[in-house]
Amino acid sequence: MEKGNLSIHSENIFPIIKKWLYSDHDIFIRELISNASDAITKYKSLVSLGEIKSDETEYKIDVVLNQGEKTLTFIDNGIGMTADEIKQYINQIAFSGAEDFIEKYKDKADQDQIIGHFGLGFYSAFMVAEKVEINTLSYQEGATSAKWHCDGGTEFELEEGTRKTRGTEIKLFLGEDGVDFENEFTVKRTIEKYCSFMPYEIFFTVEDKEAQKDEEGNDIVEEIVALNDTTPLYAKKPSECTDEEYKAFYSKTFMDFKEPLFWIHLNMDYPFNLKGILYFPKLGTNFDTLEGQIKLYNNQVFVADNLKEVIPEFLMLLKGVIDCPDLPLNVSRSMLQNDGFVKKISDYISKKVADKLTGLFKTERDAYEKYWDDIQPFIKYGAIKEKKFNDKVKDVLLFKLTDDQYVTAEEYLQRHEGKLDKEIYYTTDTLQQTQYIQNLQEHGVEVAILDHPIDSAFISHMEAAAEDVKYKRVDSGISDMLKEEDDTDHKDVEEKLVELFKKSTGQESIKIKIESLKNEDLAGMIILTEESRRMQDMMKQYGGMGMDASMFPSDETLVLNKKNPLVSYTIDHLEGDEETLNLVTEQIYDLAVLSHRPLTAEGMTKFVKRSNDILKRAIIK
Ligand code: ADP
Repeated sequence: MEKGNLSIHSENIFPIIKKWLYSDHDIFIRELISNASDAITKYKSLVSLGEIKSDETEYKIDVVLNQGEKTLTFIDNGIGMTADEIKQYINQIAFSGAEDFIEKYKDKADQDQIIGHFGLGFYSAFMVAEKVEINTLSYQEGATSAKWHCDGGTEFELEEGTRKTRGTEIKLFLGEDGVDFENEFTVKRTIEKYCSFMPYEIFFTVEDKEAQKDEEGNDIVEEIVALNDTTPLYAKKPSECTDEEYKAFYSKTFMDFKEPLFWIHLNMDYPFNLKGILYFPKLGTNFDTLEGQIKLYNNQVFVADNLKEVIPEFLMLLKGVIDCPDLPLNVSRSMLQNDGFVKKISDYISKKVADKLTGLFKTERDAYEKYWDDIQPFIKYGAIKEKKFNDKVKDVLLFKLTDDQYVTAEEYLQRHEGKLDKEIYYTTDTLQQTQYIQNLQEHGVEVAILDHPIDSAFISHMEAAAEDVKYKRVDSGISDMLKEEDDTDHKDVEEKLVELFKKSTGQESIKIKIESLKNEDLAGMIILTEESRRMQDMMKQYGGMGMDASMFPSDETLVLNKKNPLVSYTIDHLEGDEETLNLVTEQIYDLAVLSHRPLTAEGMTKFVKRSNDILKRAIIK
């Protein structure tokens, strides 16, 4: 047996490693399985180079938990190591890697992504183990098995091993920090998290688990199946994948059993390697639960979820997997952010998504319209966030109209040429604003539904992009089309009406304007200019920031239609019976408010009572 000291300058490296990596200490599983997988790949390439003859064994990786012994063992039938190689790769290289690592990153906080790239992978085992044992047999002819163990200090022992077949066993004696991994399901889940697309089959067993018995007392033999999919769909050629396969891959990978709408298969070799599938998920009924997931892989090894340095932020609303072996993950995240190469990857992905959308719009407009409700938050968000993306998709942004048609801004303007002057009318609430919508529709004006939380930002974005086009909420004014020509000066009457309405409704700041509206049934309408409404919306949004909506008093105007009998009666009887006038004016006001915004609880109570009074009067008459 050989004893030795690990060539390392700091006394004990493990406490440092443990402390740094504590937050994500399950990655030791990824590291050890990756090493096992690399060892198999090395062996396989020697076979394919003709250096050695294959012994026809199935390549595989076993993970074995022994709960009684508190050990977790990783077994591969890869290339194996000789004693000399252990000295070279485990004793020296790995440690110098660890030293480099510490030198470079002692002040940084996010080490988990890069541990594997400093020859530190193997030593991550010490995050959970108080002792690690390697038992290995090299593929080389006549090689003898070698065994190494180390208890996490700087001393190791190397002796003859017991392994009879080619490959390596790495046994972790779980310590205090590793108790979680005595749990079968934790281990299984972790393997699935990091290794579900690894290229060799991974089997997990609990060695000392008592078999379950059937009714006659016989052992039920559990079938052991590989935990991973060694040829994930994304690694195949798009032309070789069927829709069914895409859907199955989606539900398995994201545990989402709603079918995705459509997907994009990314497959690129030059100037960088990138494969993946991005899915457009169906939205739930609740907009708030809009949350995607992009899993990033490096050669079929899971790296991280939603790594925003690599994936454009707006794409985070999608679900997908991306495998990019060329990613420079051996640099810190802040470097990733400024890395030109990473930026190129991000641009490529975003371009592919834009191409897919414009392609659909051009060749499958029906399908595209069908998807629109689900994909619109995502596209709008992307258009707002990313200039390049916006440039590509700006002509395929749709508006859903109140009659369920879908049109682009361009198409909307064309349809209303001669009728509207570069205006687009929209509603944020088809029920509440139905009165206004109907008025416009009666005059052949279509209304776009913009009721998603993203839409207010989206409208500003669209206006900034095409300054001559104005977006108007249906209740922001009365279009000239709805009015009859009327040159009468109403100033005097308006002033008197203000006094009357002030008294009856208690609205001190009420503004009144008389118009001749074509629709005689309509007595009054509340109008709030687009500007002041947007200001109010903004205040609401920033309410928490010390600003208060009352700092900008509401600028509502009550438009009264003098062609309506109730209004003309009021105008004609300004000095008339006070009770009747109060009744009529309050009711006109409330009706106008009702189709503009909800009444307050108190207002509603009054409204109901008054409506009853009016009915009573009708009977008494
Ligand atoms: P890295 O994998 O980044 O090189 P590690 O610390 O994980 O660093 O491993 C150090 C070296 O030990 C590997 O490069 C490899 O040569 C050797 N090694 C580790 N695990 C195995 C294994 N299961 N089979 C064969 N060699 C291994």
